[in-house]
Amino acid sequence: MAQLCPKCGCSKFQLQDIDVENTPYGFMAIQCKVCGYPIGVTTLENVPATLIKYGTKILDKLDLIERKLNQK
Ligand SMILES: [Zn+2]
Repeated sequence: MAQLCPKCGCSKFQLQDIDVENTPYGFMAIQCKVCGYPIGVTTLENVPATLIKYGTKILDKLDLIERKLNQK
């Protein structure tokens, strides 16, 4: 059975950065795509880098470095 949002009944969810004070660790909320109701929280280690916006930027930069290295 699909997980449903307890507030609006939607079955689609997304990851959202959340700003937790006084911790060096990154957290992300798993929230309803429609109303934003949070159904859970996970740490950044559990989220593949490609799904996080700055993770994508890091991968882009690595790509660039790799290309430069291959040109030599
Ligand atoms: Zn909802």
